Formats: sequence, C-alpha cells, structure tokens
Amino acid sequence: MSVEAFCECGHLNEVPDTLAGGIVNCAACGRATQVPGLRDHYWTALKLAAAVGWALVTAWAYTAAGLPGALIAAVGGALALFVLSRML
Ligand SMILES: [Zn+2]
Repeated sequence: MSVEAFCECGHLNEVPDTLAGGIVNCAACGRATQVPGLRDHYWTALKLAAAVGWALVTAWAYTAAGLPGALIAAVGGALALFVLSRML
C-alpha cells in the first residue's frame, strides 16, 4: 500500500505507507514534502461518518417530529460534533 504526498511543485509522490506522517524529498524537485499520516484518512472517514449520522438523525427527527424536532436534532448534533472535535 502506498500514500500520496503532493509536493508544492505539483508533483504527486507515491511513497510506501511506512513513511506515512513523515517527510520525503520530492522525486521531481527534491523539496522536503510532508506525507499525510494514515491516521488522517481514518480521521477524515470518522468525521464523514459523524456528519452523515448527524444528517440522518436530523432527517429522521423531521419525519418523526416535524420541523421543531429537526431543528433540535440539528442543533444538538452540531453541538455534539463540536464537543467531539474539541475532545479528539
Ligand atoms: Zn516537488
């Protein structure tokens, strides 16, 4: 498995995932390039899942309790996501 590290020069470096979170020299220009950590991918997936869950709960609340329920779910979900993002 490999990780993609974009250099400022625009070159896409494919590096082994053992170098994830580290720094490599760009194959095109030699500049030090940050390799995204594997954790970043999981973190992005987690945030996406949380956002989808939030949307689903809001939609469900709308069908179950109408607009007031959806508003409460939306505000509550946003608060929960905010607290979660502060904790992690
Ligand atoms: Zn480069």
